[in-house]
Amino acid sequence: MNEGHEKIQEETTESRQAVTDLINSVKFLNTIFDSIRDPFCVFDRNYNIVRANEAYADMKKMRVQDLRGKKCYKFLHDRNDLCEDCIVEKSFRSKDSCAGEKLITLKNGWKIWFEVHTYPLFTEQGLVSYIIVYMRDITDRKLAEEALRESTERYVLSARGANDGLWDWDIQSNVIYYSPKWKSMLGLDEDGITDSPDEWLKRVHPDDRVQLKKEISSHIDGHTSNFRSEYRILHKDGSFRWMLSRGVVIRNSSLRACRMAGAMMDITEWKQAEEQLLFDALHDSLTGLPNRVLFMDRLKHAIKREKRQGEYMFAVLFLDMDRFKVFNDSLGHTSGDQLLVAVSQRLQDSLRPGDTVARFGGDEFAILLEDLKYREEALAIIERIQEKLSLSFNLSGQEVFTSVSIGIAFSTTGYDQPEHLLRNADIAMYQAKSNGSARCEIFDARMYASAVARLQLETDLRQAVKQNEFVLHYQPIVSMQSGRITGLEALVRWQHPVRGLIHPKEFIPIAEETGLITGLGEWVLQEACRQLKIWHRQFPSTPPLTISVNISSKQLLPNLLELIKRLLQETAIEPDRLILEITESMIMENAELVAPLLLQLKDLDIKLYIDDFGTGYSSLSYLHHFPVDVLKIDRSFVARVGDSGENLEIVRAIATLAHSLDMDVIAEGVETENQLVQLKAMECEYVQGFFFSEPLDNKRIVNLLLQGNFDLETRLAHSSNF
Ligand code: C2E
Ligand code: MG
Ligand code: MG
Repeated sequence: MNEGHEKIQEETTESRQAVTDLINSVKFLNTIFDSIRDPFCVFDRNYNIVRANEAYADMKKMRVQDLRGKKCYKFLHDRNDLCEDCIVEKSFRSKDSCAGEKLITLKNGWKIWFEVHTYPLFTEQGLVSYIIVYMRDITDRKLAEEALRESTERYVLSARGANDGLWDWDIQSNVIYYSPKWKSMLGLDEDGITDSPDEWLKRVHPDDRVQLKKEISSHIDGHTSNFRSEYRILHKDGSFRWMLSRGVVIRNSSLRACRMAGAMMDITEWKQAEEQLLFDALHDSLTGLPNRVLFMDRLKHAIKREKRQGEYMFAVLFLDMDRFKVFNDSLGHTSGDQLLVAVSQRLQDSLRPGDTVARFGGDEFAILLEDLKYREEALAIIERIQEKLSLSFNLSGQEVFTSVSIGIAFSTTGYDQPEHLLRNADIAMYQAKSNGSARCEIFDARMYASAVARLQLETDLRQAVKQNEFVLHYQPIVSMQSGRITGLEALVRWQHPVRGLIHPKEFIPIAEETGLITGLGEWVLQEACRQLKIWHRQFPSTPPLTISVNISSKQLLPNLLELIKRLLQETAIEPDRLILEITESMIMENAELVAPLLLQLKDLDIKLYIDDFGTGYSSLSYLHHFPVDVLKIDRSFVARVGDSGENLEIVRAIATLAHSLDMDVIAEGVETENQLVQLKAMECEYVQGFFFSEPLDNKRIVNLLLQGNFDLETRLAHSSNF
């Protein structure tokens, strides 16, 4: 009994243990089952779902317990029958594992690609009782494959149609594929070259090779996201073509570059256009010389070199052609342009290689003389320039002469801004010009000081015009015959708030250059007419007093006529009492424009005097074509007339010629009695000068007019007693 009881107990314990083991193993399997991340499902022979894991339920957007016992085709595919390509059915049939890919559309519309595997479970009789189905999401792979297929197709299409030459370099074997187009771009035929990268590199221009290699390795090393390089490459015909190559590396799993492929494009035409644009931006279109921008750049480099090397000396020359405007206006712009081109050629011929000559526009040039040993070297070059330019130019059969004024600034003056050096050379040029034509001046600090003073004067002058700081003084013009004051010359003065009275020689040229002369000249005319009107009332005479007004060349424009008409109307003075003084060079320099204006002024009955006669470069016979009434002999000729009558010839010649052309003569700058005697002998009609009176303000002129005539008879008689 005991034995039996023990046995039973033993068996019970064993079966309990077996049940426990079974339970444990089921739990164990369940845990495994549920831990599988990919969808997993078991079907029985009736295609009912026996089991599904969380991932499967998740994919179907259902709960695990709701799936159990559901018929797959009905429940999952909403069909009454099996799907044609049902992989579960295939596995039952073949009693074997099957695999396939399946695109599943989820309830939310998303499409997911799965790789599906089946696994049959057999009964002891060898029948398939269950099929295990497990799936893997391969959407990413599918998309990548799709993209690859598309891009491969695109690549094939573009390679077939592209104008670019393609290359594909296997870095590991160092073999490169060059497409037929790549070869034909270099004039090579299909089997013209081997598949070595050297075929490419050895043809690249030596100046570009290092850069190209650098760009390739920089991309391979991962420093750039793309490879891109522009270089020149040798064509079979011996010329170099500009190419643009672009490409990318392909890296293996350890990120090492294993392949690099890309395309090469012929950009020769772009480069040529680009070079042309760059050239145009840096050169003068007429002469082809560098322009200001390029010049300044070279100057900047010269300054840097000087800073580095210390001993290095260079010079900046500023050149301005003498009287180019006259030339241009008289011979026309085409000839002007021809002359500029010819001059620039001669300038270039005068320089050493490495020197730069630039055109700054108009008739201005600048030269950079680099690496000078001595200052004399620059002076020798300048001499060469002046010499070459002194030879005549043949412009369409016409022989013409020209010269340039040159200013020099040496680097040794210590200026380190390109603009300052250029400005200094310009100041020196300005000085050279005022000394006469074909001169050259070296910049020094004094020049700078006077240029600054000039600039200050210019600023002050603008202010003065605005605030009308001017006053007119008058100098009498005396009749040689009667000693009577027949007229007055209006001479402008500037009442500078600090410097006091400034004479016109100092500010009229600045007023002309800056255009301020227009307003100033208008004021002078108006003031002179107004004053004359008062004197006419105060000192009536027959004929009435005249007023002479100096006119600047900048005022000789058609609107002068309108201004004078208006003034005559406003002041009601007789037109023949108003005299305009102009110089012969004003007529000669712009004869075409001035001649009709003078005729129109004459039609108004205005009188015209030629001032400073003899200092210009005209001929009397030429002047005769213009409606001139009186010649004023410049005081430089009168001053030379000595006590015993020497140097009289020029004055006499002018007087005789003037008389033969029916013009009267005024001698300017008469200072001595003796001069007066000599002028009387030459039958000068009028005299003007300190001998009678300096220019005076209107109050003192009134006093002078009140005194009546000068007693010339007594004076001349007294003088002839000597
Ligand atoms: P200009 O028209 O030849 O005037 C004569 C100049 O000679 C005046 O100088 C006068 O003071 C000076 N002068 C007269 N007699 C003698 C003399 O006996 N000895 C010496 N040494 N000098 C004498 P100013 O007033 O300094 O004028 C100089 C020049 O400035 C004038 O020469 C004229 O060309 C110009 N100017 C004067 N006023 C005006 C003006 O309102 N407009 C323009 N555009 N120019 C003017
Ligand atoms: Mg005058
Ligand atoms: Mg004069």
